[in-house]
Amino acid sequence: MIVMKFGGTSVEDAPSIRRVTDIVRKDVHRSPVVVVSAMAGVTNELLRIAALAAEGKTAAGGRAVTKLEERHDGVAKELLGPTAAPVVASIRTLVDDLRRLVDGVAVLGEASPRSLDAIASFGERLSSLIIHEYFRRMKLESTLIDARSFMITDGQHTAALPDARRTRTALKRVLVPALDKGRVVVTQGFMAATRTGVTTTLGRGGSDLSAALIGALLKAREIQIWTDVDGILTADPSIVREARNIEAMSFREAAELAYFGARVLHPETILPAVSSNIPVIVKNSRRPDVAGTVITASATDIPGAVKSVAYKEGITLLTIVSTRMFLAHGFLERVFDVFEHHRTVVHAVASSDVSITAAINDIGRLKAITAELRSFASVTVERNKAIVCVVGEGLRNTPGIAARILGAAGEVTVNMISQGASEINLGFVLDERQIAPVVRRLHAAFFERKADKEAA
Ligand code: ADP
Ligand code: ASP
Ligand code: MG
Repeated sequence: MIVMKFGGTSVEDAPSIRRVTDIVRKDVHRSPVVVVSAMAGVTNELLRIAALAAEGKTAAGGRAVTKLEERHDGVAKELLGPTAAPVVASIRTLVDDLRRLVDGVAVLGEASPRSLDAIASFGERLSSLIIHEYFRRMKLESTLIDARSFMITDGQHTAALPDARRTRTALKRVLVPALDKGRVVVTQGFMAATRTGVTTTLGRGGSDLSAALIGALLKAREIQIWTDVDGILTADPSIVREARNIEAMSFREAAELAYFGARVLHPETILPAVSSNIPVIVKNSRRPDVAGTVITASATDIPGAVKSVAYKEGITLLTIVSTRMFLAHGFLERVFDVFEHHRTVVHAVASSDVSITAAINDIGRLKAITAELRSFASVTVERNKAIVCVVGEGLRNTPGIAARILGAAGEVTVNMISQGASEINLGFVLDERQIAPVVRRLHAAFFERKADKEAA
């Protein structure tokens, strides 16, 4: 079997869903599990609706729900024509449930993480319903399977962790029989449930992770990530117009890139694929004939080669200085215990025996973290920072590469430099407003000149 994941822009309207249908049909003999995201913008809209309800702005929230319903109705009607009525009725039933949840939030005046997950799940539930019905209409024998019947997570709402063992068992029970019958399975990315059936989500962009997990647990031959660009590019195309497609990259390169902000892949996607050695292919659903990027275990280790430039915005720097010098021993451990306790990922760190500078981007817990740290250290907080990083297997064993990278970054104040443990990324923390110029300069230095030379 294979997994085919379609992101929000790949299912955003009727023409996109028609393209998806053609793409799936070509691979129908490979037993596809089709994992879909919410239509582009819908998850954001649902979270905005939850926020409006929590603020008591019920009229605005209600209008937004109606708009969402109309958008889905419109797509269903465009795809199914006169036979759309049953789907429109199912959309209505779902939207009624959504309205009840939103009303609940309004009554409480607070959107708990649990209700945010329940509300956010409607995007994928609506898109998958329409896609499944259209497949059937187009004679693709499909079965719609609710992800909550197999994707089992802990109860950490808005960032739930899947339980691989339980999920595997459930997949075998609910999903494999449909594949065995030769049916195309359609399911939702992003959403999941706890053991007791409470709806959770895997975090923003989590459909990639859903796809990768299903693929890994069912030993797929391939995991396809269909999106709106020609694959993984040498930089974010919204910043660097000249960004080029990367044909092949290693699992490690892709993981580092995803981790450092290349939104095209969810950071954890690669992990399940790596452990099972399943190739991941990133392709453009608008241009399915373009080869895309193939990510496999085998590294393409070209000395000096930089594969891509990435950045992560919204970074906060914490400088933590021990207030008790005699505690220097064990200080690092105490600091990291605090981050661990708040489940906060530290993206980069620099340390001496009495001070640590840590870069984090999850500011949800910032207050609690600094309060805890201040019980044994002094803490300075700097907001609006970013990490810009360069990734490539070729960074290992290339003398002088760090100097070249920093040189290419140009005149800029760098707060911190970090080389990843994997030695295939070199990143630095700087002011957020420096992202675009620095990313462009790095791209120009490592890709554009090379291209010019090749052309010459
Ligand atoms: P989807 O809805 O398909 O999951 P996303 O918006 O999550 O799509 O990811 C695709 C987007 O990621 C692209 O449109 C592009 O703007 C952005 N992106 C950032 N960095 C990169 C990169 N290095 N290569 C490709 N795309 C990138
Ligand atoms: N719909 C979810 C989001 O927008 C998940 C995804 O698309 O991967 O974050
Ligand atoms: Mg995505």
